[in-house]
Amino acid sequence: MDDMFKEALELVKAQATVRAMTAEEMTAMVGTLAKSLQALSQPVVEPAGAVPAAIAKVDAAKSIRETAVTCLECGKVCKIITGKHLALHGLDADTYREKWGLKKGTPLACKALARARRKKMKEMQLWERRKSAAGAKPKADEAAPATGKVAKAATAKPKGRPKKA
Ligand SMILES: [Zn+2]
Repeated sequence: MDDMFKEALELVKAQATVRAMTAEEMTAMVGTLAKSLQALSQPVVEPAGAVPAAIAKVDAAKSIRETAVTCLECGKVCKIITGKHLALHGLDADTYREKWGLKKGTPLACKALARARRKKMKEMQLWERRKSAAGAKPKADEAAPATGKVAKAATAKPKGRPKKA
């Protein structure tokens, strides 16, 4: 008799002291209990395709590579996961990142593209800063009218040319 049966028998014995049981009932109960105990003692086998959360997170980080990014929903490999694509899965960038444990604000694009984009953003910010710095100089113009005129003429030129042509 294996341990499961012994255990089941003990449980049935205990049950039998609480209420009157027929021999058939007891036998049936031992059988079912032994079976469920056996099932409980089995190592839990992950169904195919189910990935433990910890591994899923590692994979999520790995899904963003130098020249390609993998959609963790469908496995599609592309340069960038667009909002339009995520909509196919009923997600948007934020819910996607949350679902797969990606850090907030992680670009859903391959690293090269994300880097290029960051660089471009920086350049644009620099350009904006330069523009606003140039625009925020009326006081300097008053102080030094000569340089102010030069600056104005320089910015006006490209606008003026097409009119003349
Ligand atoms: Zn997808």
